[in-house]
Amino acid sequence: MANVNQQRQRMVDTQIARRGIRNEAVLAAMRAVPRERFVAADMAEFAYADSPLPIPEGQTISQPAIVAAMIDAAEVGPGDRVLEVGTGSGYAAAVIAQIVGHDAGHVFTIERHSALAQSATSRLRELGYGNVTVRVGDGTVGWAEEAPFDAILVSAGGPDVPPALKDQLAVGGRLVIPVGAEHEQTLLKIVRRSGTAYDREERGRVAFVPLIGAQGWAEDGTRPSGNLNPDHTPGPTRRTVPTMIAAAAEPLPDPDDPAFGRFFDRWGDRRVVLLGEASHGTSEFYRARAAITKRLVERHGFTIVAVEADWPDAAAVDRHVRDRGARNGVADEPPFQRFPTWMWRNTDVAAFVDWLHDHNRGVAAPDRRTGFYGLDLYNMGGSIAAVLDYLDRVDPEAAAVARERYGCLTPWQKDPSTYGRAALTQGFRRCEAAVIDQCRALLEKRLDYAGKDGDRFLDATQNARLIATAERYYRIMYYGGAESWNLRDTHMFETLTALLDAKGPQARAVVWAHNSHIGDARQTDMGITRGELNIGQLCRERFGDAAALIGFGTHSGTVAAATDWGEAMEVKRVRPSRPDSYERLCHESGVPRFLLDLRAERNEAVRRCLLPSRLERFIGVIYRPDTELRSHYSEASLPQQFDAYVWFDETRAVTPLGPEHARSGVPDTYPFGV
Ligand code: SAM
Repeated sequence: MANVNQQRQRMVDTQIARRGIRNEAVLAAMRAVPRERFVAADMAEFAYADSPLPIPEGQTISQPAIVAAMIDAAEVGPGDRVLEVGTGSGYAAAVIAQIVGHDAGHVFTIERHSALAQSATSRLRELGYGNVTVRVGDGTVGWAEEAPFDAILVSAGGPDVPPALKDQLAVGGRLVIPVGAEHEQTLLKIVRRSGTAYDREERGRVAFVPLIGAQGWAEDGTRPSGNLNPDHTPGPTRRTVPTMIAAAAEPLPDPDDPAFGRFFDRWGDRRVVLLGEASHGTSEFYRARAAITKRLVERHGFTIVAVEADWPDAAAVDRHVRDRGARNGVADEPPFQRFPTWMWRNTDVAAFVDWLHDHNRGVAAPDRRTGFYGLDLYNMGGSIAAVLDYLDRVDPEAAAVARERYGCLTPWQKDPSTYGRAALTQGFRRCEAAVIDQCRALLEKRLDYAGKDGDRFLDATQNARLIATAERYYRIMYYGGAESWNLRDTHMFETLTALLDAKGPQARAVVWAHNSHIGDARQTDMGITRGELNIGQLCRERFGDAAALIGFGTHSGTVAAATDWGEAMEVKRVRPSRPDSYERLCHESGVPRFLLDLRAERNEAVRRCLLPSRLERFIGVIYRPDTELRSHYSEASLPQQFDAYVWFDETRAVTPLGPEHARSGVPDTYPFGV
């Protein structure tokens, strides 16, 4: 674990400088202020995360990148008199105080909650910020006695710009304020040019807690003043990009049409074709991947299907599809029985498994048959289930924390309330040794069992590696976060290369995993600001053009997902994509189902206009539509993340296998007896 100074340095480099803030004074101030001192002790481990965090009174300390962007926009400089509305923890006030200095400069900051104002006052005093004055009150009416101000920053979102704040700007002064609806605003910069003239500029979209006061929102959320302008969609290019997408898009037939797979022949000579998905519960993504895989297997000699799943469960499917007979004469447990069961126990996967089984029956040479393998950390689902089972019995509070942290194995939730729930309890740390022992015992038992398996080509290397690293692996998995993400994706990559090596230089593999695993992480927020890598990036680095990364997306429909880790699957409605997302551009192309080849030699013009980062939606096994922007959208550069993008405008949830499928030929003990 890096120390706090290193974490702070890293935060400034990755979350702020790399996002384009060049203002040295802002960068230096952010490097100097200890953010961990502005959050509760149990939140300190997240202090340098790229996210807002919860503070008392249901409020938040703003995301570091937003604090930096606001101070940069307000052009705060040495000697300035600055008003901040919404003191909160006092963090932004401290950063501003660091810049204005102690001579002529001063920060006046107003907070409506007296408890927050008091704790911010003592914190700022302890840290030596004598140039900050905090007061309790309604900041929408400003601080007339201290006006005029060189800069005013409002750290909460209002329905409109409070006239009092404009009045209290010095000529030449800058006001930076989020304006718009609850949960989503546009950051405005107002510059006072004269007694009556103001310039106004939009600086992008943000999500702040509400500004409550006489010239803000009423306590109950109704709008007491001003007029909202709900249209913040950025404009000029949006009308033309969908047209360009429509021109470059190759309309696709239904995935069940044999012609579907032909569109993907262009990648038939690759060593690895990675097929993504924008959720873990969308039927079209499974059916499309099955159609492409069939084609790659039948026409192009692919013999490895490697999926984002546990090795032991996939091995049971593999024994079936390659007719290898039951392990040691003992029938397998039905695979994929643990959360999230619908990811693999669904009718689309069952149909694909049937097909693979039939296909392999027609292949005489056993080594030419196509296998089905799990890339995930060995028995990850099994060990997570064991940890939760243990914690449920000994410390339910720690179990709730663990569930939240495992939920973050799909893209990390940016919702501040999620961090609150994921904060470590004392019990969580106390249970560490016991759960790691249990996981190790479980691993040894499973490996011992697997050792009796006939097809052992991977066992020797994989098992030795697993046993040697078990302690570290279980500790990292127990605590969750970016380190566990990297461990997991590195493991997936190593398993894939072990499979390719074992099958020889001619072997080719198709990978099925979520877009967040197979799209190049270096071209997304996860790589740029969180230091996360993934199997797509590692494949590009190792195989270059011999790897094809194909992402999938949708605009709306339904999806199978849970609300929290371990909870029941629900069929949820997918909200229409956001106006500022890649998905919306694809939707507006008007083509309901298409392949967009993003390689420069194919579609240079559309590639170029899609290059600048935009929002992209990531739904894992958990979907939280209420906090969709913060929980599921992340910035990415689509044409650099993927070589191609497959689009289904309207999609529907997968159908989990149930007893009724036993009657129609897919029994409960899937995949056996089909
Ligand atoms: N700048 C803060 C920090 O660094 O921790 C974060 C501010 S938080 C996002 C917004 C704060 O604005 C909340 O603490 C909220 O209570 C406060 N607030 C909302 N309306 C206000 C008003 N009219 N006057 C003063 N404070 C207000």
